[in-house]
Amino acid sequence: MIPLSQGPVPATADAVLVGGGINGLATAYELARRGLKNIVVIEQNYIGSGSTGRCGGGIRQQWTTAENIRLAQESVALYEKMSAELGYQVFFRQGGYLMITESEADLPALREAVALQNRCSVPTEFLQPAECLKIVPELDVSRLKGATFCPRDGTAYPFAVVWGYARACHRLGVKIFIRTAVRDILSDDGRVLGVETDRGRISAPVVVNCAGPWARHLAAKVGVELPNRQERHEIMVSESLKPFLDPMVISITNGIYFSQSLRGEIVGGIGDPHEPHWQDPADFDTRSQLRFAVRFARALIQLYPRAAEVRLMRQWAGLYDVTPDHRPILGGVPGLGGYYHICGFSGHGFMLGPVTGRRMAAQITTGHPDEIINSLSLSRFENGDLQTDAFVVG
Ligand SMILES: Cc1cc2nc3c(=O)[nH]c(=O)nc-3n(C[C@H](O)[C@H](O)[C@H](O)COP(=O)(O)OP(=O)(O)OC[C@H]3O[C@@H](n4cnc5c(N)ncnc54)[C@H](O)[C@@H]3O)c2cc1C
Repeated sequence: MIPLSQGPVPATADAVLVGGGINGLATAYELARRGLKNIVVIEQNYIGSGSTGRCGGGIRQQWTTAENIRLAQESVALYEKMSAELGYQVFFRQGGYLMITESEADLPALREAVALQNRCSVPTEFLQPAECLKIVPELDVSRLKGATFCPRDGTAYPFAVVWGYARACHRLGVKIFIRTAVRDILSDDGRVLGVETDRGRISAPVVVNCAGPWARHLAAKVGVELPNRQERHEIMVSESLKPFLDPMVISITNGIYFSQSLRGEIVGGIGDPHEPHWQDPADFDTRSQLRFAVRFARALIQLYPRAAEVRLMRQWAGLYDVTPDHRPILGGVPGLGGYYHICGFSGHGFMLGPVTGRRMAAQITTGHPDEIINSLSLSRFENGDLQTDAFVVG
């Protein structure tokens, strides 16, 4: 059972977090762990109902910017002890990530990435196509040109992670309200005053916008313009099979990714360049399409021919909250004290949520600048300080 607060929302709080996904809950937990009292999480639907509950659960350190590598490393360290720390089994498994390419042109970038990751103490190695068979026997390596493998990457079960954070939050006194929507963020004279929900007003000096794909819409309530756009990403699960696949396999050529869950299902998706982008929540479309099932099945069978014998059981879709450089937007905005956002994670907010929650909570409670949060502030889009990681896949 997830302990949820019943009855009316409190009239006052020390901090309100909007969104019951990994970012809202991890940040609430970290704020409470640092001793902040009277924290309230407001979720318009149910815990994990946004992108978090629809994601593939992948956690990797194989990135091409030092900042992403560092965040991912810190997150892996948090995931490694998460079940013990939260007192809840989150099913984190380090089966590794095998990143493959079918293009010779990618090889220099892969080798450079390995060198950078090794300099950051991430134990990635470059593999020739035939060497991939040691990691995934029966992979069709005939079209592969190379791969990288990091054995310390892995997966966790997304719902267990948010349930674990929710229970730990509750133990620390955080109140979580579901089926409650934030309609407005209140502010006056350059300071946040609280939120207006559909169940009443909460006065609070700190409001953190962790609304995922809805963050742009919410930020506009206080005149903050986020450049985020939303796009549908589909994912599917097969019938359960005997264990045969330890790592997440991900192709930087066509964006397919797949892993095997503890229940034996193949879980995977593939990016689709033809998906439209939206900015208005009224346009969001998370219906499933046959087109996805066909594209995914074809790409999977090409890489792993035995999969042709496997039945697909279920598919669903969720939204990526995408920024122009595919990096998250963190921190506050000048001229609006007490307002913060943690959003724009594209396809990697599940893996980064624990560490961004920890770093943001430290900044909110101490006011000390954080080098990485500063580099991910909204102002980078005005300053033109954009660097895109080459391994944005999916
Ligand atoms: C198909 C798919 C696969 C993915 N795979 C991976 C992966 O393998 N690894 C990875 O790291 N990432 C993955 N991602 C991305 C990841 O899911 C997201 O980056 C991450 O879950 C974002 O978490 P969040 O807490 O910021 O947002 P969300 O989980 O979307 O939570 C935001 C919450 O805010 C609530 N909300 C919004 N507006 C309001 C309001 N006004 N009032 C109250 N509540 C509100 C929503 O209902 C929602 O529950 C994937 C995403 C998709 C769609």
